[in-house]
Amino acid sequence: MKLHEYQSKTIFSKYGIPIPKGRVAATAQEAKQVAEELGGRVVIKAQVLVGGRGKAGGVKLAKDPAEAGQLAAQILGMEIKGLPVRKVLVDEASAIDQEIYFSITNDRAAKKPVMIASAAGGVEIEEVAAKTPDKIIKSHIDPLLGLREYQARDVAVAMDLPRDNVKDFVKIAMGLWEVYKATDATLAEINPLVITKDRKMVALDGKMLIDDSALFRQPELAEMRDTDEEAPAETEARKYGLSFIKLDGNIGCMVNGAGLAMTSMDVIKLFGGEPANFLDIGGGAGSEKVAAAMRIILTDPNVKAVLFNIFGGITRCDEVAKGILVAMDEVKPKVPMVVRLVGTNAEEGRKLLENAKMITAETLADAAKKAVAAAQKGN
Ligand code: GDP
Ligand code: MN
Repeated sequence: MKLHEYQSKTIFSKYGIPIPKGRVAATAQEAKQVAEELGGRVVIKAQVLVGGRGKAGGVKLAKDPAEAGQLAAQILGMEIKGLPVRKVLVDEASAIDQEIYFSITNDRAAKKPVMIASAAGGVEIEEVAAKTPDKIIKSHIDPLLGLREYQARDVAVAMDLPRDNVKDFVKIAMGLWEVYKATDATLAEINPLVITKDRKMVALDGKMLIDDSALFRQPELAEMRDTDEEAPAETEARKYGLSFIKLDGNIGCMVNGAGLAMTSMDVIKLFGGEPANFLDIGGGAGSEKVAAAMRIILTDPNVKAVLFNIFGGITRCDEVAKGILVAMDEVKPKVPMVVRLVGTNAEEGRKLLENAKMITAETLADAAKKAVAAAQKGN
C-alpha cells in the first residue's frame, strides 16, 4: 500500500525527522487559508500516489496567500499520470541549497534492508542512477543489529556531506530506520532531503510503501488507505480477500494458489497469449468469493477470453463451479471461457458446468492453447 506524501511526512515527524510546517487542503479557498496561517512563501503540492509530480507541474511555489489560492485551483484541476488531483499539501517553502536522496528499502537478493543515498538527489534521481551510478551509495543493514550510527556516518562521509550536517543526517537516518521498522514498510524514501540556505536539514518529500501482508497488525496505517487512488477492481478484490493485480493482456485468469497462478500466466505466454490479470482466489474459496472474482475479471473491457485453472485440494471444484454459475447469471459474459478442473470434487464441478457452454480442457497446456486461440478470435 502506498502512502501519500503528507501521510509519510507526518509519520517521519513522529520519529524526529524535521519536516516543513504545512497542512492538506481540498479546495483553493482552504489552501489560501493555510497559506495565510503559515505566512510567507509556500509550496503547493499535488497529493497523488505517483512520482514525478514536480516535472508534471504538480509542485509550485507561491509568494503570498492569493497566489497560493490561484495555484491550488490550477493544481486541483489537474490530472497527473491519469490520476485526478483531489488534495494539495500546502507547506512552508524552503530555500534550498542542496538536494539529497535518501531511502531505506528491501534488497531481496541480499535478504536485507538497504540504505540508499545520493548527494545528487531531487527530480533527476533516476537519471543519476542510470548515468552516474557511482553517485549512488548503498549500505546494507543487518536486520538483527539494526542500523548503527557509524554506518549512517559513513554514508554521510561517502556523500561528501558538509561536516556541519553529518550529525543531522545521522539523526534522520536513525529516525527513518525506526519508521521503516515500526510501519512494516518496504520503502521509506525522502527525495529530496534538503540542506537549506541556513544550513538546516529538512525532509521536503516523503514516500512510503507498506507491506500489504502486514496491514493486519497496522490498523492505523490500514485506515490511511486512499481508495480514491486505486483501480476500483483492486478495492473490490481486497474486500473479498482475493489477490488481484491488473495486467495489460487480454486473457482473464482465475486460479487457486499464487504459484499455480504464476504458472498459468507463464503457460499462457508460452503459447503466445498475454494474461489480463493475476488472480489468486486462495485456498478453500467458497462460491461467493469465486463470483466476486468472476465479476472483477469480466468488468475489464480488455478481457477477450477467460481461463479457469482450478486444482482442487482444500478448494472444492464444485464450490468453484457454483460460483462461476452465480456470476455468469449476474454478468452474462460474452467472452469464451476455458475451464480446467482437477482434484477434489472435479467430477461434480464439471457436471454443474455442463450446460454453461464452457470450453473444457484436461491439461493446463491444453487449456492455455484453447484460451489463447479464443482470445485471438475475439480480437
Ligand atoms: P516529486 O516531483 O513528486 O518528487 O515532488 P517533490 O516534493 O520532490 O518536489 C519536486 C521538486 O520541487 C523538489 O525536488 C524541489 O526541487 C522542488 N521543491 C519542492 N519543495 C520546495 C520548496 O519548498 N522550495 C523550493 N525552492 N523548491 C521546492
Ligand atoms: Mn520527490
